[in-house]
Amino acid sequence: MVVPDSLDARASIEVITALRAAGFSAFLVGGCVRDLVLGLEPKDYDVATNARPDEVLALFDRVIEVGVAFGVVRVLRRCGGELQEIEVATYRADGAYIDGRRPTEVRFTDAREDVLRRDFSLNGLLLDPVPGAGGRVIDWVGGIADLEQGHLRAIGQPAERFSEDALRLLRAVRFAARFGLHIERHTAAAITELRSGLGQISRERVHVELVGMLRAPHAGEAVRLLARLRLVEALWPSLLERDPGLLRTERRMRALCDGVHWAVHEDGGQREQPGLSPVIDLPFPLALAGFMWSLRLADSSLPDEVAASLRLSLAQSKRLRTIWTIASQLLHSLVAGRLPAVRADDARLARLLRQPEADAALRLLLAEADNVPEGWPHSARTWLRALRRLRLKTPAAQWRPKPFVTGSALKALGFAPSARFRPALQAAETVQLEGGSAAEALAAATACLTSDDEATADLSAP
Ligand code: ATP
Ligand code: MG
Repeated sequence: MVVPDSLDARASIEVITALRAAGFSAFLVGGCVRDLVLGLEPKDYDVATNARPDEVLALFDRVIEVGVAFGVVRVLRRCGGELQEIEVATYRADGAYIDGRRPTEVRFTDAREDVLRRDFSLNGLLLDPVPGAGGRVIDWVGGIADLEQGHLRAIGQPAERFSEDALRLLRAVRFAARFGLHIERHTAAAITELRSGLGQISRERVHVELVGMLRAPHAGEAVRLLARLRLVEALWPSLLERDPGLLRTERRMRALCDGVHWAVHEDGGQREQPGLSPVIDLPFPLALAGFMWSLRLADSSLPDEVAASLRLSLAQSKRLRTIWTIASQLLHSLVAGRLPAVRADDARLARLLRQPEADAALRLLLAEADNVPEGWPHSARTWLRALRRLRLKTPAAQWRPKPFVTGSALKALGFAPSARFRPALQAAETVQLEGGSAAEALAAATACLTSDDEATADLSAP
């Protein structure tokens, strides 16, 4: 196994060499070895050693104590003029687990036991990278054979391993999708059987795993696996109550999520690139909207429910909700077969398309259009593309013009501020967006304010 001559790889070899010179055992471990075996470039290099954290702290001058209790420290090394950070973890065995997520204690041990506490065989490989050792891989868990046969397999008894830490259920899906692996039969059966364990995992950890899955190039496959292994219903039990047939939609869910990614990459054409970079630049709210949208539950409360369940930030929740709302409004026009002409001076379209999330919503629907949804008009794709083009070419100032009519102007005319101001200002903006003059806009606002019809005055446009 050849270790690339990158700066971080070099720094990790220096750390291993220094540990060995001090009489300790040390190897590369985990994700980086797996990636090298697969011919991919690792995103970071982790070192495992029998040196205790205090011994590692004593050996290197620049160290960050990230989790000394668990035996993890980060060694900083200057390499090629850049500071490299290498995680060095003491070989450990995890003690009994409490509540399916935290070991009560860790015990420092030897390399073999350290490998056996890891999750999947592909993540349980050690590598001796020091020149002269010939890049020897140490495989106590059958990881090489599993990779060769395309299998993802839990180390040890799957049921035990998933009961210890239910996050591994999601990690299994993420790794299987990312590397195109088949989840071995017993491992898959245990995932489904123990799915309710996901309820014990902190939402923050779930969030991180879903980001890793849904923002990656193989999100479609991850979604298909989530559905097949019945993890979707374990993550959001209320979805199944809304639609008991949800899991039958697996194939479509996959096609749609692939479609979302295709839509995002249609210009760059990067979709077929192998999983070199596991995370692509797909905003999480869009990825999540794609996933939720593919569930086909026309339910306006869904985005908020999902956002809360994943502890999304306020900004991300808002983006998710807005993408959802815009997509729902456009969908409404599509299924009703009423496609407004694509013109910059249509106020309703302007208000939809001027929002930053409009592009995401259009991508979502374009991805869906690839699957030729029932009930959509033939012209759906052309219409959606035209909307996207219009959005791109319309200058921001045209859709957010300096208003002809403002609240203070209305006050200056003697109108007392009231709840009617909002629809009045909206009426004025509608006129302005549709190319009317300042006088016409003011007339529309005053007509709204002086109208006797309360219901009309209170109607707030979308
Ligand atoms: P990635 O490229 O996604 O970071 P990785 O394999 O490096 O993949 P990490 O989450 O960084 O994944 O974990 C590093 C290693 O620690 C894993 O390869 C695995 O051996 C072990 N590991 C991490 N999380 C768990 C877990 N929940 N249970 C058991 N072992 C784990
Ligand atoms: Mg990693």
